Amino acid sequence: MTAWKPIGLTMFVVLPLVVGCGGDDVPDEAEDRQPAVVAVNRPLEEFARRLGGDTVEVVCPVPGGVDPAKWRPRDEDVLAMQQADVVLLNGAQFSKWLNTVSLSDSLVVDTSRRFRDRYVVVEDFQVHRHGSEGEHSHPGTAPNTFLDPALALQQAEMVRNTLVALVPAEKESVESRFEPLAAELREIDEAYGEVLKDAPSTPVFASHPFCAYVARRANWEVVHLHWQPDEDPGPAKWEQLEEKLIDHPAKWMLFAEQPLPETEARLAELGIAVAVIDPASTLPVDGGFPDVLRANLETARKVVQNERP
Ligand SMILES: [Zn+2]
Repeated sequence: MTAWKPIGLTMFVVLPLVVGCGGDDVPDEAEDRQPAVVAVNRPLEEFARRLGGDTVEVVCPVPGGVDPAKWRPRDEDVLAMQQADVVLLNGAQFSKWLNTVSLSDSLVVDTSRRFRDRYVVVEDFQVHRHGSEGEHSHPGTAPNTFLDPALALQQAEMVRNTLVALVPAEKESVESRFEPLAAELREIDEAYGEVLKDAPSTPVFASHPFCAYVARRANWEVVHLHWQPDEDPGPAKWEQLEEKLIDHPAKWMLFAEQPLPETEARLAELGIAVAVIDPASTLPVDGGFPDVLRANLETARKVVQNERP
């Protein structure tokens, strides 16, 4: 806990100066300036770009290759957010840095606030030890809401509403750009419904709680192992997995990225196949966010039908 204090104090010292400088800007050229929209993850960035067209400037401050759910803003990122017109947040504990920075309520839009009752709470969200006590787990809210296309659509609607409020003169063009996006997300949502509709309850393992919203659609019972895909889990974790297998006969383990070949081979010896669910931390170069949702559905289908690789 004490580690947080210095950050908080720094912010409080820095912020009043920042607000004082930026707040009273003369509206000389402000008329021509495009409203600045900050989005905290790739799906929201894509929604804002697609819906905003040329009328807003959209920035996602998370550097490429960094998981937006684990990212923490640097001082200059906080400054950029304070000077923006809107900060599009994901909600669902996606941005854990929020309570360490000072952003005015009028600036931030929680795009998932309408469906708080549909957040997934994961019982073994965090697993760790306190001192010499044994390992135990803590529950937590799964952050990647947008991996459920029905929830992604609601977030896109919030982005549309936000942009219309921000640039009322562009209402019609924003709404006309929203229609094809909404149609695409609705179509994907229907495909999820169609493909996963009678999915039996399936025990699976997952490295982390990144795919909880896919799991709910696919009727998976997930036990989270908290393994890093690029590390050998080590003897203790292998032993733990074999123990868990007794009550949780999983035939699949889900990762956010391809694990080490040795890990995959050893899982295969235990009858467990690897599947990768894309958490949309980065988007495909030759596609967009809807393609991630489609690819995840195809992976989910293979797991549900136990179609071995
Ligand atoms: Zn604890």
